[in-house]
Amino acid sequence: MSFLPQVTLKEILAPAGQGRLVGAFNVHNTEFILGVVRAAENTGRPAILMINEKVLKYGRLDCLGAAALTAARGSEARLAVMVDHGTDETFLKQALGAGMDVMYDGSLLPFEQNIRNTRELVGFAHRLGRCVEGEIGVLGLQEDGEDGGPARLTTVEQATEFSARTGVDVLAIAVGNAHGAYPGAVDIDVKRIAAIHGALPGLALVMHGGSGIPPETIRRSAQAGIVKFNVATDLKTAYITRLQQLMGCQPPPVQPLELFPPLAKAVEEEAERKIRLFDGEEDQ
Ligand SMILES: [Zn+2]
Repeated sequence: MSFLPQVTLKEILAPAGQGRLVGAFNVHNTEFILGVVRAAENTGRPAILMINEKVLKYGRLDCLGAAALTAARGSEARLAVMVDHGTDETFLKQALGAGMDVMYDGSLLPFEQNIRNTRELVGFAHRLGRCVEGEIGVLGLQEDGEDGGPARLTTVEQATEFSARTGVDVLAIAVGNAHGAYPGAVDIDVKRIAAIHGALPGLALVMHGGSGIPPETIRRSAQAGIVKFNVATDLKTAYITRLQQLMGCQPPPVQPLELFPPLAKAVEEEAERKIRLFDGEEDQ
């Protein structure tokens, strides 16, 4: 399976900065893909389609992966496609070969092992002209809700060493952000973002766990140096809420085409709201 070259993570993130963010959205099926693509087209802004490694293994590279790549390639909007939270290097190499970028998540490995694995994957990706996002520091709760152990914030020293020794294109950092719904008040260490950005001004920094972070904190994080903001939970919530509403109707819909378009619309509306917010428009 081969695709035309797809815009890379590095290329799509290059114009960001000075407080402007690119939204990266986890997609799970056709309705999520259509929703995010339309949101990017409606706003005229770039966006990143992310597929979690476990989701992509289920949906398959030649089915869900191909759908995301083809939709991105055929859109008038600027769209990158990547694997999110990958740990299977063989699978990630297949995804890179198919034209996606990848996030390699070695954050739960010992530091040296994370560096070795990330560096190897970066070498492979760069030979294909593709990009790798790495992660240093631990967010605690993993994206699929599994406990990843206690959170560990990223230090400037670790980020600098990790970047220098891996050659990674994009870096996810742990600064008080968390996957899923925040259990209490959101406490993002904006000074830490600024310190890491100050030490590594050329490296694109990523905030995972972007759902539920207040607009003012998003703005301050962007000013401090974050350029990619990941959103999974808020889109899933919009999708599931609409699905529950539809299934609560009497009689509930039985035709797929009574269900799928309103679900895609729910994703589109939430993604569009985020994209506008990330690009500096006021939250409505
Ligand atoms: Zn994440």
